[in-house]
Amino acid sequence: MPYCPKCKDEFREGFTACNTCEIPLVDQLPPDEPPGEPEEARDFEMIDDVPALLCNASNNIEADMIESLLGSYNIPVMKRWRYGGDIVMLYTGTSSTGADLYVPSKLLEDAKALLSSKPTAEADDEDTESFAEYAKQQEQKKQLFAQKLLIAFIALALMGVLLALVFGVFMG
Ligand SMILES: [Zn+2]
Repeated sequence: MPYCPKCKDEFREGFTACNTCEIPLVDQLPPDEPPGEPEEARDFEMIDDVPALLCNASNNIEADMIESLLGSYNIPVMKRWRYGGDIVMLYTGTSSTGADLYVPSKLLEDAKALLSSKPTAEADDEDTESFAEYAKQQEQKKQLFAQKLLIAFIALALMGVLLALVFGVFMG
């Protein structure tokens, strides 16, 4: 039986086009996409490629970070938890055994370049640097204040000595 691939209407034998959609009919409807399947997995299948081991994440958070970083560059990531699957992770909340992260081998070099560039780490370095700079400035300010305090103290002491001398002279 011919079907319209768009409106999925069934037609009698002999029909070649859908009169509503004005497109050629097909012999069989394409199978419905499984609704519950996660998007990552489907994306991964869509790229006709073999998974290549990218790196190993020591924990759940690290794996998610890498996955979201690569995901923002449209690189699908496949996680394989070691010594325990997703079920273990669901029960324990985290997997201490770590995960192997796979990407399509065609995208392996891109993924590696992205990970090695580590934009987040650079931002951290910048923060650390500016914080160190801030701390240094504060330290300098403290030293400057201490110097001023010392000068003021010396000035007061000198004035005291001077006053004592002056009074000493006048009081005889
Ligand atoms: Zn139709």
